[in-house]
Amino acid sequence: MRPARALIDLQALRHNYQLARQLSGARALAVIKADAYGHGAVRCAQALEADADGFAVACIEEALALRAGGIKAPVLLLEGIFEASELALIVEHDLWCVVHSLWQLEAIEQTRLAKPINVWLKLDSGMHRVGLHPKDYQAAYQRLLATGKVSKIVLMSHFARADELDSSASSEQVAVFEAARQGLSAEISLRNSPAVLGWPQVPSDWVRPGIMLYGATPFDVPQAEAARLQPVMTLESKVICVRELPAGEPVGYGAKFISPRPTRVGVVAMGYADGYPRQAPTGTPVLVAGKRSQIIGRVSMDMLCIDLTDVPEAGLGSPVELWGKNVLASDVAMHAGTIPYQIFCNLRRVPLVYSGD
Ligand SMILES: *Cc1c(COP(=O)(O)O)cnc(C)c1O
Repeated sequence: MRPARALIDLQALRHNYQLARQLSGARALAVIKADAYGHGAVRCAQALEADADGFAVACIEEALALRAGGIKAPVLLLEGIFEASELALIVEHDLWCVVHSLWQLEAIEQTRLAKPINVWLKLDSGMHRVGLHPKDYQAAYQRLLATGKVSKIVLMSHFARADELDSSASSEQVAVFEAARQGLSAEISLRNSPAVLGWPQVPSDWVRPGIMLYGATPFDVPQAEAARLQPVMTLESKVICVRELPAGEPVGYGAKFISPRPTRVGVVAMGYADGYPRQAPTGTPVLVAGKRSQIIGRVSMDMLCIDLTDVPEAGLGSPVELWGKNVLASDVAMHAGTIPYQIFCNLRRVPLVYSGD
């Protein structure tokens, strides 16, 4: 059996969820969109359900998969409906729904609903992706109320630059949000992971942690709160071939690595078809036989090469951690010019193996 697999530590997931709650002093929707950032949405939801205030996903398909998996907790659709026909399913499956655009508000006005729904009214406070314009916000709130079709309205917005700890952009977004909601007495929700970890002064009734649940930092600098996260996923495999090269020999496609000295090369069963980033260059860290080393040459589809020269105890069959508790996914992502969000979401082909139920 091919040794590549992703171990998922559900105990660490619960730890990170509790940390989000504790740091924010708010209720927390565990964001498990995109199959829980590659960690398996139903299993992660099951592991959190006893503790969690609710979950958040991108779309109704993801929400229905949770309901089919037996999840009874509240589930928020972060992008709301994509077409009006989804409103009936929202009622039927008791889902919560973001309204980010006037067309979605109109759909609620024009659709007969069997029961009132829980709506999260989203403001564009400066990111300029989705969300209502501040000048339309109060009127949209009143129109929603007037439909008689809402059981509750939560006021929400989303940060564009909360991962930049020295930027004033998030404070400016909070100011726009505060002005837009003046006089409305409703619960609020602003904070994603970087804001939970790095912006304790931002008020919250509800927070929406995603990446931090999986134990990866959203920051590209060290941060005290992020250091308390426990990595959930360990992507591991084994050395399947070892070769000794003299100095001056190329390794892998395109001869992107030329051995600068006599080099012991280990070939690992892991490649970009598993989601390991092809862009990861020579020097990207790995752990082999418990010691840190690095990849060399180009990542290929099913294999990659690592340097065993300074790890003589490593050999055929040695375990390799591509990322996990020792080699941080955020570190690998940085080497590959991307973010841990993307390397988790790209994971495929490898079996997910759970522990800590
Ligand atoms: C994905 C998402 C989140 C979670 O973001 P993280 O940075 O992963 O914590 C929160 N809110 C909204 C609206 C999102 O789309």
